[in-house]
Amino acid sequence: MHWSEKIANRLIESHPEQQTFVCASGISPSGHIHIGNFREIVTTYFVSRALEKAGKKVRFIFSWDDFDRFRKVPVHVDPSFGQYIGRPYTQVPCPYGCHTSYAEHFEQEFEEALQAFGIRPEFIYQSKEYQSRRYAPGILHALRSRGEIYDILMSFKTGEASEADRAAFYPVSVYCGDCGKDSTTVHSFDEDKELLTYSCECGHHSNLSVAEADNIKLQWKIDWPMRWNLEQVLFEPGGRDHSSETGSYNVASVISERIFGNAPPTYEPYEFIRIKGSFAKMSSSSGNNYTPDDLLKVYAPENILFLFAKYQPGAAFHIGMDEDVLRNYTEFERYRRAYGSQTLTDDIRAAVELSLIDPMDDNTPGFGPVAGLLPLIHFDQNLLLEIMTRNGEEVNVQGLQQTAERAEYWIKHWMPQKLVTVNPRRDDALYETLEAHEQGWLDAFCRQLRAGGMGDEPLMTEIYAICYDEDKKRMKNNQKRLFTLIYQLVLGQETGPRIPVLIQAVGVETLLALLEF
Ligand SMILES: [Zn+2]
Repeated sequence: MHWSEKIANRLIESHPEQQTFVCASGISPSGHIHIGNFREIVTTYFVSRALEKAGKKVRFIFSWDDFDRFRKVPVHVDPSFGQYIGRPYTQVPCPYGCHTSYAEHFEQEFEEALQAFGIRPEFIYQSKEYQSRRYAPGILHALRSRGEIYDILMSFKTGEASEADRAAFYPVSVYCGDCGKDSTTVHSFDEDKELLTYSCECGHHSNLSVAEADNIKLQWKIDWPMRWNLEQVLFEPGGRDHSSETGSYNVASVISERIFGNAPPTYEPYEFIRIKGSFAKMSSSSGNNYTPDDLLKVYAPENILFLFAKYQPGAAFHIGMDEDVLRNYTEFERYRRAYGSQTLTDDIRAAVELSLIDPMDDNTPGFGPVAGLLPLIHFDQNLLLEIMTRNGEEVNVQGLQQTAERAEYWIKHWMPQKLVTVNPRRDDALYETLEAHEQGWLDAFCRQLRAGGMGDEPLMTEIYAICYDEDKKRMKNNQKRLFTLIYQLVLGQETGPRIPVLIQAVGVETLLALLEF
């Protein structure tokens, strides 16, 4: 059984009367949302799909934690943004001048990428929620329970608790009414009047009516369980950093039960993922900051979803941008073709099902053949279509175009060693080293080329016949040797596209010029 179905079954068993299952995930828009964070949302997405498959109603929410403080200027943003540290993400300008705020820029970028994957959660924007005062009752409740919250937090820490610290503890941060930053200190909370007094490093100080204020935020470990309670969340995954013994999930769970009287959601910790490829290694400081968009330039969305579906959330894995791209495509293409048959394991079948955005089987040619052919035809997509349909095959033109664009991007940005070109002149030196019978094969091959006028299959039969030997094993080796020689003499490497494709891509005249001695 697929891991998403196991989680769904566990949820259904522990909530047999439940009408709607709320599944949550959330991210801070602290910069480009990289592919590691994608696991947060994709895990929830798969569990939601498994619940729906089991006939349950699901509310799949995604929380943009954009009322969090801007804590660090990422490398890709102008260092002058240091002046905004301490403000909420929605109160920091867009670093590229194209959106109303820093938060909006990175939120939209990620939301658009999600559309390519067919993932459509209900987005909740925390700045809007906080500023609408919807959380005011939760904030007031936490302020009234601040002593107990302090005790819970301290029970997870090694430091000594003290009465003075306990009395001075407030589970909130206040964004200054003047400078907008959270460099503030809360001095008192009047429970009757529900008034909070604070001062800021900038010199500002003020009283706030908690029920009316739009600049108070609960601290993370209290904010999280307050929202679990409000939205009645039943499932949420979390990164390894939140999942340790004293990590925020365990702390928030105790606060959820003891302060908000609400059972915490079923939690699924997920491991980080890495990008593998020579370019990723080269820029190690930002090497793992690839976004889903970066990956979509090389992989189809189905391929990426399949990788996330294939691995348990607790398993670390890497997404290769090197030779692995070919392997990953080939594997998924094979499973997809076999989807309707009985040859797939239940796990793989479920993973394929979760990955298909358009389950209709299209006629897009495989990535490997397209990537092998494109450099030879100078990335000419019209010629590609011509070659791919030369035997009257039906091809999904749009799919082919997308595959060609991804293959081109991959070769040019990640695998320049795949930029195969046709040799500019005949390789006499290599020819001289060949055995007489090998020279004879090439001669026979050129005669076939000159004769022309054959379909792919009859041509291949004729070519195989060139290397005929009574011993089947020897004949196979002969054929392999002949193909290797052709590729070496034409492309300067030992592999290449199928011979009929090579003929069409390179042209008979050019081939003869390189193979006739
Ligand atoms: Zn201030």
